[in-house]
Formats: sequence, structure tokens, C-alpha cells
Amino acid sequence: MEIWELGARKILSMVSSREVSAQEVLDSFLSRTAEMDPEIGVYLEIMEPDARFSAAKIDALLLRGDSPGLMAGLPCAVKDNISAMGANLTCGSRILEGYVAPYDATSVRRLRSQGAIITGKTNLDEFAMGSSTETSAFGATSNPWAPDRVPGGSSGGSAAAVASGMVPVALGSDTGGSVRQPAAFTGICGLKPTYGLVSRYGLSGFASSMDTIGPFGASVWDCALVLEAISGSDPDDTRTSRRKAIPYTKKLGRSVKGLRAGVPKEYLAKGVDPGVMAVFHDALEALMKLGVTVEEISLPSSQYARDVYRLLSSCEAASSLARFDGVRYGFRAPAKDMSDMYFETRTQGFGEEVKRRIMLGTLALSAGYYDEYYLKAARARTLVIGDFQEAFRNCDVLLSPAAPTVAFKKGQSGDLLSSSWGDTLTCPANLAGIPALSLPMGFASPQDEDCPHGTFEPLLPCGLQIMGKPHDEETVLNLGFAYEESEGEEVSRRLLEMRRGLLKECEPV
Ligand code: GLN
Repeated sequence: MEIWELGARKILSMVSSREVSAQEVLDSFLSRTAEMDPEIGVYLEIMEPDARFSAAKIDALLLRGDSPGLMAGLPCAVKDNISAMGANLTCGSRILEGYVAPYDATSVRRLRSQGAIITGKTNLDEFAMGSSTETSAFGATSNPWAPDRVPGGSSGGSAAAVASGMVPVALGSDTGGSVRQPAAFTGICGLKPTYGLVSRYGLSGFASSMDTIGPFGASVWDCALVLEAISGSDPDDTRTSRRKAIPYTKKLGRSVKGLRAGVPKEYLAKGVDPGVMAVFHDALEALMKLGVTVEEISLPSSQYARDVYRLLSSCEAASSLARFDGVRYGFRAPAKDMSDMYFETRTQGFGEEVKRRIMLGTLALSAGYYDEYYLKAARARTLVIGDFQEAFRNCDVLLSPAAPTVAFKKGQSGDLLSSSWGDTLTCPANLAGIPALSLPMGFASPQDEDCPHGTFEPLLPCGLQIMGKPHDEETVLNLGFAYEESEGEEVSRRLLEMRRGLLKECEPV
């Protein structure tokens, strides 16, 4: 087996016992990247000199017998709306082209201080708006399971990087589902933490009241490890919680017997593909075998959640993106006077989807419309939060598929059913600020047509979403871990097969 195939846990133990050096680990992932990235299109920038320097530093520390941290020598890719000092920060947009981040985001700084090696910046939907990574100004990313399909979005670059074995772990951001849905589409794990558990300092804001930074990994343990490294209070983000840090990896492996799980009936009422639904029912049965009690519950206001999310996130985006005016950052269009410069810069710099949302948000915030739209949506958000509070009186976790379909074909994002419809299952957790994990639960055939890719069975991965009480990542991760321990073998086998077959799969015929 090559180093890149080993998994985060094994790599960490080999680095700390000096069986392999951090530099050898990095070499293995970089050569995998050189092989795969031209086909998959993950990286907007590979930070090779920076990564090599960090790996050499970790090796030197180990040689001296020092402890270089929780993630010593583990490569990690970062979504390109999170700042890494000295690297470009494009947010997948022309408007930021040429802008170089002058500082590290808190999460990136914390990863580095725990010994992680930052490998580069990954592709995303422009300003994290989208569900397919196709709205990026720099081209689409492919799903490693079927390169004619999307990896999900907006954090599709980070998800595809982990799924294809270019890095063991990565960071994404989740405002309405952008970590969970791509994790589901690419057959890996992704966690949206409780709002305020991970600092947003250095994350380019989309909808500040819902934005979270979350980890991707091939297993639940990997996500727990990254969360352990990046979570905790930060004076640079006043919304971070002051709770004591939790060693999440050490909390895994407890029995889940007696845990009470609720399945919101509104989430399954319509629109979930029958194939995904069948896999979800199998997952519920497997959980019951582990001693989890599963009952149907109701979240009546979830019928409004997607519209509320769309409206509020667009209002917040219209406000946070006002800073991109051609004066302070990146791109500036040539123009005859100042107001023309603002106009041209924003017209040429932003893509269609971003402009659509800025217009919607601006309208909903303007005099005469504010009460009718923004305020009404804000009130409906309170109802969504209330539903969750009520449900968590009797349930420890809530379960649903993470996405209503498997990965859809490129070019279908305009189709509401496959893209924004998918937010229905994920965005309520953002409105309420609660933690939610997506982990692989099995495989289903796409509804559009049979997947024509031949070296593995013609099925695509789908994800199980586990939502928890605010700040109860421990329970969410522990349940995911238990499920993975009992059911995960098939998924890991197929992930390995897919990764090995990928090169053949991508070769031009
Ligand atoms: N698909 C959602 C949207 O386009 C989610 C985005 C996100 O979580 N960043 O708004």
C-alpha cells in the first residue's frame, strides 16, 4: 500500500514513531495529486514550498524528541474561502483574483500549531453559493466516483480531494449544507459543527449568522481529530463559545445503546429518491440493532426552512459582499469615474449566481420590503429553532439522509430539484446553529440514468445525516463512529477500489 492509502490514524502513528517522515508522507500525497488533480480539478493553488517547509520543520521537531502536536505531519487542504497567509484567497470569484491573504484564519493557524501540513486551496462554488462547485469562476471540479458528475458543493474541491486520496483531511465551510452534501456525494465524512464552536476569523463571510468551518475526512475519527484541533474560543471571533475544549477523538467508542433518535417525517415527505430512501431505511435498521431507539417525529416549520434560509442568507450575503467594491481587494475594472468603477467592478467581478443573491438580498432589506421579507423570515427562523428545541426534549439525535439524491450530472445545477432542493435537508441545522454530521451509509443508483462508469458497480455513495443538540458533537460523532464500526466495511472497501480504479477511469478512451 502507498502512504496516501493508509488513512489519517495510521499515518499519524507512523510519523510519531518515525517509521516514515512527514516529508515522505507529503511526497506521497503530492505525487498522488500530480496524478489525479489534472482530471479532478481540486486545487486552485498548491502551496508546495510552504508545505515542504512545514513538513521539514515537523521532522526536525520529532528528531529532537519534541511533540509536534495532534496532527503532526498530516496533510490538510483548505477551501479557498478560508485565509492561509501568503496564498491567494479567491473564494472562487474573479472579484478577488490576485488578492493574497495577509494572515492565517484561526482554524488554519490552529491546524499548523497542531503539526498539520497545509497543502493548498481548494475549489468551491463562488463565495460558497451553490451545491455543485460549478459556479466557481475557475471551472468545475469532478466527482471522483464518476467524473461526469459533480462532487456536490459548495466545498466540492475539499470533498473530492479527500475522496480521491489527494489529502487525508480537509477544511470546508457549511452555511446551508456545503460540507455535508459534498461529503455525501463523494462517500466520505463531513461535519458542520455547532455555530460558534469553530472560529470564523479568516473565513470570508457568506451569511455570518450561519457560517461554520467544518472538517472532511475518510472516517468519523478523522473529522473528530480535525475538530479537536480547530475548535475553541477565539478573541478574534466574538461569537465563539467559551466552553472548555473537548478531546473529541477520546470520546469515541462508547456504547450507543438506549440512545433516542428521531426521524423528522417532513424531511422524507417528498423529493427523496427511492434509492436513497432504501439505503436510509437500512441504516435505521442497523442503528436499531446497535440498541438505538428510532421514532418518527415532526418538525412542522421545516416546510419553511429552505425559503427562510434562501432569503436570510441572501440578505446577509448582500451585506457582507458590499466590501468588494474594487477599492480594497483584488480585481478593479477600468472605468471613467468612481461610481462607474464600482458598477463595472461588481458587474464584471461577480458571477451570475452571486449577483442574483445580492439582488434578492438587497431588495429584501430595502425600505418598504424589510418588514415584509427580512423580518418575516427572521420570525420564521425562530419557529424552526423552536421545533428543534421541542424535538430535542425527547430525542438525543435526529436522523435523515444528508441529500435527497446521489451526485447529479454536471450541468444540472440550474435544475432546482437537484441543487437547491437538496438544501431542504441540510439548511435547517444552519438556521438553528446545531451540529450535523454526514457519513457514508451505502450506495444507490442515480435516477437520471445508470452510471456508465465501469470498473466498479454502477452505484454512487449517499450520506446519513446525524443532527445533535447544540454543543453535543460528542454524541453525534460517537453515534457516527458506532455506525461506521458496525457497517463501514463495505464503504471503505469500495472507497479503496474507487481510488485505485480512478486512474483507469480517467484515462481518455
Ligand atoms: N447549497 C447552499 C447554497 O447554495 C449551501 C451553501 C453553503 O452551505 N455554503 O446556499
